[in-house]
Amino acid sequence: MKIAKDTVVTVHYKLSDAQDNLIEDGREPMVYLHGGYENTLPKIEEELDGKETGYASIIQVEPEDAFGEYDPALVKVEARDRLPEPLEVGMQFEGMPDDAEEGNDALIFTVTDIADDKVVLDGNHPLAGIALRFSLKVAEVRAATEEEIAHGHVHGAHGHQHDDEEDDDEGEAGDQFRTHPIH
Ligand SMILES: [Zn+2]
Repeated sequence: MKIAKDTVVTVHYKLSDAQDNLIEDGREPMVYLHGGYENTLPKIEEELDGKETGYASIIQVEPEDAFGEYDPALVKVEARDRLPEPLEVGMQFEGMPDDAEEGNDALIFTVTDIADDKVVLDGNHPLAGIALRFSLKVAEVRAATEEEIAHGHVHGAHGHQHDDEEDDDEGEAGDQFRTHPIH
């Protein structure tokens, strides 16, 4: 079966930067709904469209087509007592950029440095400003179910799990290459 709109694609991948430093080894394959549902990067969909099981390739995706350029304006320094304890580098908080206007979306800020009474928070995506090299190999292609198409995501193994009636489509852990890993 060829990869086309409304197919579910299982793809093994490795993610590295443009210098081939491994970022993610993809032990678990990525399983996504193909066809512009923003389940994965558009450049990956473009590369795999029309391909079949067994297809393998390596693509490089520039920051502008992935997580954007690094924006120094999104780095801010906060007084430590404004943040919860215990505090560690790498922790993430939802917050607003300093120059936020009404209606702006909150960003995820990552703690990148802690001094005595100050904390450096970086609102850039951890992969911002990095050209990403994906090594891809298609493992399976199947037709999506009507329910998957209606929800805009994959169900079942490796897919979206519904814990209860509430359909919370956001905030799934991991999968940093997703176009909208955070909300
Ligand atoms: Zn669903």
